[in-house]
Amino acid sequence: MQYISTRNTELRVKSAAAIKKGLSEEGGLFVPEEIPVISEADLNKLVKMNYTERAVFVLKKYLTDYLVKELRECAENAYGGGKFDTETPAPLVNLEDGMNVLELWHGPTCAFKDMALQILPHFLTKAMKKTGEDKTVVILVATSGDTGKAALEGFRDVDGTKIIVFYPSEGVSDIQKLQMITQQGKNVCVSGIAGNFDDAQSGVKAIFTDDAANAEFLKNGCVMSSANSINWGRLVPQIVYYVSAYCDMVASGQVEMGGKINICVPTGNFGNILAAYYAMKMGIPVNKLICASNKNNILTDFINTGEYNRNREFHTTISPSMDILISSNLERLLFDLASNDAKKVNKWMSDLKEKGEYTVSADIKKKLSKLFWAGCCDDYFTKECIYKTKQKYGYTIDTHTAVAVDVYNQYKTETGDQTPAVIVSTASPFKFNQSVLSALGKDNEAKGMDDFELLDLLSNVSEMQIPESLKKLKGAEKRFEGVCGKDELLDTVSKFIRK
Ligand SMILES: *Cc1c(COP(=O)(O)O)cnc(C)c1O
Repeated sequence: MQYISTRNTELRVKSAAAIKKGLSEEGGLFVPEEIPVISEADLNKLVKMNYTERAVFVLKKYLTDYLVKELRECAENAYGGGKFDTETPAPLVNLEDGMNVLELWHGPTCAFKDMALQILPHFLTKAMKKTGEDKTVVILVATSGDTGKAALEGFRDVDGTKIIVFYPSEGVSDIQKLQMITQQGKNVCVSGIAGNFDDAQSGVKAIFTDDAANAEFLKNGCVMSSANSINWGRLVPQIVYYVSAYCDMVASGQVEMGGKINICVPTGNFGNILAAYYAMKMGIPVNKLICASNKNNILTDFINTGEYNRNREFHTTISPSMDILISSNLERLLFDLASNDAKKVNKWMSDLKEKGEYTVSADIKKKLSKLFWAGCCDDYFTKECIYKTKQKYGYTIDTHTAVAVDVYNQYKTETGDQTPAVIVSTASPFKFNQSVLSALGKDNEAKGMDDFELLDLLSNVSEMQIPESLKKLKGAEKRFEGVCGKDELLDTVSKFIRK
């Protein structure tokens, strides 16, 4: 299978090259030329498989220049080797009839980013061999909190790679920050930036397309790559858990084979929900994809009106991994909805860059509303949802998952649709302990507590165990406390690669 760029369909590369490069040189994103299909007969087989086997089945349809044996190695290393604290990496938890939560946070960094970033380094090191790459691949990451840590964990001490992560210094939770600045490994670097996630992401994207920066990398024996969800190697493992969730629902009798489901995803950069879209295009029977946003509701407006307008206030919320105004992966959806018309995509993306907005045609808007439903939820209702979910089901959710549960409830109230649903849970509540405790009415008890006392308190209140990886942060050495200016990213990167 060949991959083409959303901004230049003449450009064709194999999956290994697409994964190594991350972003196409003219700024477009790699997408498969056509989306492979899973038949009902395939699904019947998949129902009987475990997660790793399901992963290999889906991966081999996309990464056709990898041997099946190689993909099996990748999947076993990522999902089979005790890195996840549950029997299966992505368990589906039933809350009530027709309402399921897909827990994607049982990996080493307690957020769903592990599902992809535990496997991406294996794809990448194999891609380097395949493409005869002898330079050091430097992974540049902009993070709203969770990607950074997950990428650092995935790439630490991986031969032939270095990784540098930028996070908004005031835009992440205490635990998230602690996770990153205490990162171990010889090939890692972490820096705060004095700006928000969009500044970090734009800064990193600018380095990718900067000729002088690329020349400097080469001079130092390095090439750049990305572990952000713009990298195809991030998206394809995410398709797997939607396929897997459907199989689990069939296996448990919640849906008959071929019956439709709804999927509700808390969304920021549009990566996770895009993976659900690809799963649907492959043949997973989906009725609606429900896009849940926090107060940064640019996607809600876009799906409801067809106008994407980033000229608006940026809000810092208690679901910081969704505090995003430029959802990069939307470009892949638009490319698909526009029937692979790169000209249109180029126009929208240049409008976005120059004017901060674009509007899609009525025809594309129609396709959008047929499949997607969108809603948003501010901090007040996020907290209320955490409280009510605990009251009703005895189940504690994090702030991001709460946005999805709230929007799912809005959807049901508004439409009355009873289609069985999967609500995607993207982080462990312990990662956002302060906000979760506050939502559960524990402000008084939590007052004056340090992060580790908060973990203990939340463990008592939720009757859940504290994830080992978070416990271990206590007393860990702080290795990276620096913060750079918005326009100093390249300097920081240059220093790191010259080391
Ligand atoms: C990254 C992240 C999201 C948003 O996912 P996208 O793929 O960017 O839409 C939601 N919740 C959590 C906890 C995250 O880490």
